Amino acid sequence: MFPRPPNAHNLSMYSFFLFAEYRPCPQCGIPVNQADGEPHECDPNRRVDWELFLMRDQIEAFEYDLGDWLETPAGCFEVWYAKRERLGAPARRPAA
Ligand SMILES: [Zn+2]
Repeated sequence: MFPRPPNAHNLSMYSFFLFAEYRPCPQCGIPVNQADGEPHECDPNRRVDWELFLMRDQIEAFEYDLGDWLETPAGCFEVWYAKRERLGAPARRPAA
């Protein structure tokens, strides 16, 4: 192991402490200064982006899950049924 330089505790190492008074808004994710006491109003567009960001894993998994489901018998039927409807030959679904 290499010896540690004498000034290893530099500013970049602890720079995140400079912004410790900022906390992400739970509704929109914007860093909000907790110390200044200013009320924060969420931007609706930013809020949608934040919620999509939080759901990114689920959104990514959805495509894989859908692909897997489309290979099941039920999925194959739905693909067949959708093609049939799109081609103008509506088929009646059996009553559930
Ligand atoms: Zn907010």
